[in-house]
Amino acid sequence: MMSAPKSTHALWYPYTQMRQISELPRMVAGEGVIMHLEDGRSLIDGISSWWAVIHGYNHPVLNTALLQQANKFAHVMLGGMTHHPALDLAEKLVSITPEGLNHVFFSDSGSIGVEVALKMCIQYWRNLGYNGKSKIISLRNGYHGDTFKAMEVSDDSDFTRAFADVLNRGFILDIPTGGFDADAATVRQAADQLEALLIRGHGNIAAFIVEPLVQCAGGFHIYSPLYLKLARELCTKYNVLLVFDEVATGFGRTGKLFAADHAGITPDLMILGKALTAGYMGHAATLATTAVFDSFLGDNYEKALMHGPTFMANPLACAVALQSIDIIQSENYLEKIAHIQDIIREQFDSINAPAVIHKRTIGAIGALEMKDAQCLAGFKEFAQKKGAWLRPIGNVLYLMPPYIISDEQLLTVLHTMKEWIAQIK
Ligand SMILES: *Cc1c(COP(=O)(O)O)cnc(C)c1O
Repeated sequence: MMSAPKSTHALWYPYTQMRQISELPRMVAGEGVIMHLEDGRSLIDGISSWWAVIHGYNHPVLNTALLQQANKFAHVMLGGMTHHPALDLAEKLVSITPEGLNHVFFSDSGSIGVEVALKMCIQYWRNLGYNGKSKIISLRNGYHGDTFKAMEVSDDSDFTRAFADVLNRGFILDIPTGGFDADAATVRQAADQLEALLIRGHGNIAAFIVEPLVQCAGGFHIYSPLYLKLARELCTKYNVLLVFDEVATGFGRTGKLFAADHAGITPDLMILGKALTAGYMGHAATLATTAVFDSFLGDNYEKALMHGPTFMANPLACAVALQSIDIIQSENYLEKIAHIQDIIREQFDSINAPAVIHKRTIGAIGALEMKDAQCLAGFKEFAQKKGAWLRPIGNVLYLMPPYIISDEQLLTVLHTMKEWIAQIK
């Protein structure tokens, strides 16, 4: 048998220049927030494996939910067939998300959840007899996934560069400055920009999509919940759907169960992913209001939503998601998250280094914007030596730990960040 030449990587890694790839740590087991590596080292996961593993690794209760479902059936198509885990999870999501989001469409990743939401928006207006309402408004620095429509509503970045000339762009607006506690006048200025665009363009605009409150992959920018309230009023006034992409912010990350809860409003559509299955399985949910859902009703397929991922509502994913939500609700997770926020804030407060140009915290998110990405060259390796798994995005050093992290583990992660910052020249 011929073996492949050594220089060939069978495995193609994400967001990676494969020519420059170096030896990667190999995880062989996980336990709580700890990632055990093949070489005997262990690391504290400071970023919840792309923000998903909220209860840590190898959680006994989630494992049991998974195995119990696997022993019944691991998968069944949702076309023409249904099952309890899907029905129960849909009901559960309706009950915990903002009032009025009454219908759930499942898919297999956050990007696809976004695609589904945008398809729903565009078809909604078509179904109601409006022509030409198909453009989407989104926010500067936004990130909504890597598929084509998701790239179109994401801001220009390294993720979209290669496709810039084939993307059918809508409109991009600035987020309000001033962070979570921005004064009302500043927030209203940003809302005025939105209104000016809506006055001019609402005849062509289907929806406004945002990462509510915190833009994660685009650099952890935090903005005022008042902006979301004003956006809600304006979208209603000018006949444009409001879409909250809570793939990253959902399930407690911002200190409330959903970022929408900070603003006390209901978007027309909401997308959940990442922490939905606590990192056990790729899965996503697109929730819609009754008004959106009803627009798809009719006597034939013409108005129906013609979309159906093969693995939508996968029973293993649904069973684990149900159990994950149960843990969040029964084990006072919002208190745990408030406590994590306190510790992050306390530690960030004592950072006073010229290389750090902005500190941002909310819920179980802490981000330090550095003066440039060069300040963070070599950080990942440094963190691993200190026993922490952290991976900066561009010039932002951040943590988004699993909610079960102990104070001691959290401090190890934060001290690792601080130690690095202290030695930057
Ligand atoms: C990660 C992310 C996505 C894409 O989710 P995938 O599961 O990676 O496709 C979409 N929106 C936001 C806000 C995200 O953080």
